[in-house]
Amino acid sequence: MSILSIFDAANTAETAATAASITSSNASPGASSVVAGAAPGAVTEGVTGGVTRAEAADRPLPAVVGADLLVPLADGRQVPYANLDYAASAPCLEPVRAAVAEALPAYSSVHRGAGYASRLTTARYERARHTVRAFAGARPGDAVVFTRNTTDAMNLLARCLPEGTTVVVFDSEHHASLLPWSRAVRLAPPPSPGEAVRAADRALAEIDGPKLLVVTAASNVTGELWPIAALAHVAHERGARIAVDAAQYAPHRRLAVAALDLDYVAFSGHKLYAPFGAGALVGRPDWLAQAEPYLRGGGATRNVADEVEWSADPEQRHEAGTPNVLGAIALAAACEALTATGWTPIVRHEERLTARLRAGLPEGVRELALWGPDHPRIGVVSFTVAGHPAREVAEILSTEYGIGVRDGRFCAHPFVRALLGEDGDCADGTGAAVRASIGIGTTEEHIDRLITALHDIVRR
Ligand code: PLP
Repeated sequence: MSILSIFDAANTAETAATAASITSSNASPGASSVVAGAAPGAVTEGVTGGVTRAEAADRPLPAVVGADLLVPLADGRQVPYANLDYAASAPCLEPVRAAVAEALPAYSSVHRGAGYASRLTTARYERARHTVRAFAGARPGDAVVFTRNTTDAMNLLARCLPEGTTVVVFDSEHHASLLPWSRAVRLAPPPSPGEAVRAADRALAEIDGPKLLVVTAASNVTGELWPIAALAHVAHERGARIAVDAAQYAPHRRLAVAALDLDYVAFSGHKLYAPFGAGALVGRPDWLAQAEPYLRGGGATRNVADEVEWSADPEQRHEAGTPNVLGAIALAAACEALTATGWTPIVRHEERLTARLRAGLPEGVRELALWGPDHPRIGVVSFTVAGHPAREVAEILSTEYGIGVRDGRFCAHPFVRALLGEDGDCADGTGAAVRASIGIGTTEEHIDRLITALHDIVRR
């Protein structure tokens, strides 16, 4: 047996084992930690690998790179950075850094090289695709196209829609999911989850021809979880497909594409603890296989003469040029690390810290929510501070406390405007807010520091 066939055999076995372990943790939707829109604390995870439920909840979270980062304050001191900006980009997980470091020595071109390094890198890249498919809980035949990020994934999907497709989308979407569509019906942010389902149903019922519902699973502004299972159901009842923006959801809850009957999901590596420039569009292959290639060039073709014969494989067809191999490997490593940790400890950690933050907010701080304070959410808390513009608050937090948050309108201008009020109902009159967001590396000290800082700011 040649060294390459030995390697292929080993890699195939490893890939199958990884897929099996990931798939088994995704296999039983009823016993999952993710029930879209489930009540907080409703985290259930079956007994896996001889580990009891209680032990699984205590499993340690993976370490993040940069946990000990020191940052300068305006007075010249240095303090440990309190990163409360996970919703923008999450830090790299240590296992992700390790996977990239392991892949680098053999880094090479993929798919077309005969050399050992190229074969190995190709195997790692395709294994990453397999891992991402399993992480998404997708159907076996679903395509996984590596993209740059969620924005890229949604734009790819927009290019693949059958001619005449009408997209139904809520104004509460991030711009990545609001703007790519050439023909869209935009719905006002709904006053309740039930009304979201009814409004989508009504809008889809009025559309003839191909139709697609696009909706986020977790809002990047309020963190609120959307009823994606019910929305998928009404979309299919109306003969439509559903595409879910999982940019915020995927790092914090278990994805279950097949179990929830979703047609497409999109997410970004840099929000999923894998900041190496890759994202993914996962979903039904047929529209992708029939559409014009997203990029025209090498790798997407079967044969080029006077006429071009494009690859019929949906993944190759839309990944022309040399792909972001390390980004894909990093994304897959993050998927594996999160799956190995299990969602129970991740969700518990984030819910505990989110509750601590919300309970500690002083008077004068107004939280943004579409469906009220008790609706289930990921660890995102956006707010305004009476008498203090959002930018000023964010700058004080950074320069006096070493805290990183996001301020502005979070690439969701219509939604933030709706939440704050057209006429500057926002406390600072600028139409902007501050967002604190929580993830695996967040500590109680980070939360307490933010609470102390906000008490200080409202007294100024
Ligand atoms: N969708 C949501 C809900 C987001 O929060 C973001 C980014 O903040 C995006 C899409 C766009 O992600 P990316 O910038 O990685 O394309």
